[in-house]
Amino acid sequence: MQTPWEYRYAHRMQKMGSSVIRELLKFTEQPDIISFAGGLPGPDVFPLKEFQAACNAVIEQQGAQALQYSTTEGYRPLREMISRHATRYMHVDVSPDNILITSGSQQALDFAGRLFINRGDYIVVESPSYLGALQAWNAYGAQYIAVRTDENGMIVDELEAALRIGPKFIYVLPNFQNPSGVTLNLERRIKLIELADKYGVPIIEDDPYGQLRYEGEHIPSLVSLDSQFRGKNGGCYSGNVIYLSTFSKLLAPGLRLAWVIAPEQVIRKLVMTKQAADLHTASFNQYVAYEVGKGGFLDEHVKVIRSVYKERRDVMLEMMDEMFPREVHWTRPQGGMFLWGVLPEGMDAADVLKVAIDRKVAFVPGAAFHACGGGANTMRINFSYPTPDSIREGITRLGLTLKELLHEKVSQN
Ligand code: PMP
Repeated sequence: MQTPWEYRYAHRMQKMGSSVIRELLKFTEQPDIISFAGGLPGPDVFPLKEFQAACNAVIEQQGAQALQYSTTEGYRPLREMISRHATRYMHVDVSPDNILITSGSQQALDFAGRLFINRGDYIVVESPSYLGALQAWNAYGAQYIAVRTDENGMIVDELEAALRIGPKFIYVLPNFQNPSGVTLNLERRIKLIELADKYGVPIIEDDPYGQLRYEGEHIPSLVSLDSQFRGKNGGCYSGNVIYLSTFSKLLAPGLRLAWVIAPEQVIRKLVMTKQAADLHTASFNQYVAYEVGKGGFLDEHVKVIRSVYKERRDVMLEMMDEMFPREVHWTRPQGGMFLWGVLPEGMDAADVLKVAIDRKVAFVPGAAFHACGGGANTMRINFSYPTPDSIREGITRLGLTLKELLHEKVSQN
């Protein structure tokens, strides 16, 4: 039945269906489900003691400022800490004026939509890509050009054709991509930078997982390659990349704390956008995150996260090797929180999920991550949240479910 509300919603709401992820996350709340569906950090790596001490210190020493309104750009010492990190480890000359603190990277993605997308504009995305970005940009009427990916990330040889269409920007997740877990190799990164420059198309580099590498060599980020490509001009970064990262995976997602690195003129526009959206990111959270991170704690903590998630990834891969039918293929990510399963053509992961949920195990069917359709036979599987024991049990259940369904399919044919 139509309610009086139906005709009041703005046109942009028509493209905003309920999210598959949101619906599925409901299952993770049932205690007896083993969920590989969410994108949650393991709760056992949250540094509770450090947060407790930091909250006390902030309240005792700077309570009034931390509870006050503050600047839209973000807490200056926190921005200085991030700029030192970027300069030292990413080799990009970044001043605090190149940085905006946002309420999660999700907010930065939304702001990118407000800043750049007119209805009907094209955005180049990987296929598959991060669903949260697609959802944010659907609201602004984006259209997508999806470039295929393989085990080395976006197939950059196919990018030039996409750039000739005249997209507003290229959205890319170079490290341990959500959802597929794959990493863009160095050669392709360099080519991507060159092509983006040739066609004058900016890049949004979304990098929540870059520090969560469990094996292999670190590959320089696009923002640092772009900065090298342009050469030192004596000033701070003013290139072609907008870089996003977040404290969600390094500290805790409940903080809702992330940062953007971009040329100053882009930061100024983003600041205007943020002023209208929420004035500023929670002051208290910024003070606490700074207090937790200021003595170099993050460098130590990230080692703990790496070792916990590496074990989970290894257990998952071992169990999949043992339990999954040989018709199913999957990625072997070198870091991050996800791997990606590919079922035989014609098999629908959404159908598998329905049976899997009866067996008390969940994952995300991959279709929704494909901006231009397809991918019904794919699945995203998270390994950071469940414990190794749950992974063993969950992958056993999922493997048996897949074998049964595949067997049924073969008998039907
Ligand atoms: N981008 C990607 C690729 C992500 O995986 C996530 C979190 N799932 C986000 C952005 C949003 O992160 P945040 O918690 O900082 O909003």
